[in-house]
Amino acid sequence: MKKIAIIGAGPYGLIALERLIKQAPADEETNILLFDPLGPGGEVWRSEQSSQVIMNTVMQHVTVFAEDQGPNLAEWSRNYAKDYLTTIGVPSSSDLFAETNLGKNEYCQRRYYGIYQQWFYQELVKNLPTHITVSLIKEYVDDLTLETNQIILSAGKPYVVTDLILATGHGGNFLSSTEEENQQFANAHKLFYQGPINPADTPLEVIKNNETVILRGLGLSFYDYIGLFVDKWGGAFSEVDSHLTYQKTGKENTLVVGSGRGLPYHTRPKNQKDAGEDAEPKILTKKFMEVFGGSAEELIDLLKKEAELVYYQHQLVNSPIREAFLRDYQLGDRQKVLTKYQILVADQFDWEKLFDPAKDITPQDFPSFIKTYLANDIAEAEQGNRNGAIAAALDTYKELQEPFNYMLDHEKFKPKEYFEDFFGNFNRNYSFLTIGAPVIRQKQLLALAEAGIIEFLAPNMKVEKEKGQFRTYSKQLPERQFSASYLIEARLPATSFKRTKNKLLIQMRKKGYLKAHGVFYDGEFHETGALQVKRETHQVIDKNGQVLPHVFCYGIPLEGLDWLNAASPRPKSHDRVFQLAEQIASNLFI
Ligand SMILES: Cc1cc2nc3c(=O)[nH]c(=O)nc-3n(C[C@H](O)[C@H](O)[C@H](O)COP(=O)(O)OP(=O)(O)OC[C@H]3O[C@@H](n4cnc5c(N)ncnc54)[C@H](O)[C@@H]3O)c2cc1C
Repeated sequence: MKKIAIIGAGPYGLIALERLIKQAPADEETNILLFDPLGPGGEVWRSEQSSQVIMNTVMQHVTVFAEDQGPNLAEWSRNYAKDYLTTIGVPSSSDLFAETNLGKNEYCQRRYYGIYQQWFYQELVKNLPTHITVSLIKEYVDDLTLETNQIILSAGKPYVVTDLILATGHGGNFLSSTEEENQQFANAHKLFYQGPINPADTPLEVIKNNETVILRGLGLSFYDYIGLFVDKWGGAFSEVDSHLTYQKTGKENTLVVGSGRGLPYHTRPKNQKDAGEDAEPKILTKKFMEVFGGSAEELIDLLKKEAELVYYQHQLVNSPIREAFLRDYQLGDRQKVLTKYQILVADQFDWEKLFDPAKDITPQDFPSFIKTYLANDIAEAEQGNRNGAIAAALDTYKELQEPFNYMLDHEKFKPKEYFEDFFGNFNRNYSFLTIGAPVIRQKQLLALAEAGIIEFLAPNMKVEKEKGQFRTYSKQLPERQFSASYLIEARLPATSFKRTKNKLLIQMRKKGYLKAHGVFYDGEFHETGALQVKRETHQVIDKNGQVLPHVFCYGIPLEGLDWLNAASPRPKSHDRVFQLAEQIASNLFI
């Protein structure tokens, strides 16, 4: 008999549960214990949170059903949500119920995705075969002990299992030394400091009206804060010709915002693609990857070329040279082909403009430049990811993940390029260009900037502690300074083997059941923050390098060993999350 514990009932835990049910041998009894104090959907998608935090993925691109054996989020919303919400007692007058009116290309509240996951769980356990039982245990597992043929879990009481899957997902970290210094400074001077955290958990109510707040970070969390602050102020946006104007209430704080790059993430294009309508590689095919022996830099360059091909396909749509150009461009030297076909410089794809659009802007001009930048970004996004040349190109850049996963799975990156070129530079640029917020958030941001509520710092933001206040400025323009009693690190906690606050992982680390993942080069071990697993099976590796045959892990705790774990799977795509869950289930039942 197998008795399997899954720790975590967020999307990854639930997907693992489904794969276990699917793969459990019919001639053996299987008992599955699913642990999460918050129940199905877990913490990120919990019902008790602000309605202002929304998904960054359109509804039709979200599913927890492997092999599309059930409705994606949009289909569920259309066909099942009203009945289910009524059954669980959600009033039809509530704003949660109103989500049932959203279209497939809209972005729902996070809570709503959580409810879809609850429904998914109910469906899973409704008609279980007789050889399988599933118990949902709303308890936190804070320790475990590995014995010869069993694992003892410590939760509300001890539980004995034969196998374990860690799907512990996101969670807080202990502060880094610089963050700790900021916290100490805030405590000593009665200031407010918020380290990296899910923005929905930040106690914004303690921030006094009209005061200045410094926000460091311009990624996804930053956009959550935009929604949460507007809600706190009670403000609203009015829309004329698709342009938003912010209506002040008099309670507004001044938000001083910045980051190293100084630019908010590129916004998501309006979605025009149906589920399954994903980019297909022209160059980085499976066959090509099997023989590819180049560097990370070469691979990244080829990915760029894939995106450029899509761009020119759009740009030259009515041109007689299109087919010949694309053929030559795919195979040849870019510059020679552009010259041969007399493509004007202004019409050429320009990565530098995308990655560093403020390159020629003086720091003095930056605050006004940023409004133009946002307006252009919005205009491009509005063209959509099928029709807009740049948006379509970037969608390809985003979607062709398979070649990189192939490199990781086959350990084809050299250590330094793995750490610096791929997980370092490339990953940062990739996030900036492809995982931005919905365009509505960019419009809100522009409206707030136009209303004078947001002050953008030029790139190279610096925060210092001086005279009992936090002080911030851009290193490019130190004379433009802002002081504040409030400092928020607007980003999520990174995956950190060393600083995790997850009690179970801490205990496992202490007992030597876990080992830090990293790469060795230039005489140093560079930790990625992930814990170590055997890639082929996702079995955990202990501190002595021994594979723990009955302990598996996938998702966020492996970010740095695997890539892009912080995403829910897409329908009709044989998503990697499903592949990994399947890999774990099949190895577990060997
Ligand atoms: C704020 C935020 C917004 C996001 N928005 C999007 C989005 O719009 N689209 C998208 O695709 N992705 C988004 N993501 C990425 C997110 O990582 C995935 O969508 C998904 O939630 C990952 O699932 P998971 O199950 O691995 O982790 P989680 O969702 O974090 O779930 C892990 C669960 O494990 C439980 N747990 C942990 N330790 C224990 C323990 N010791 N005992 C018992 N239970 C435990 C936790 O309570 C938690 O519920 C977002 C992430 C965050 C943090």
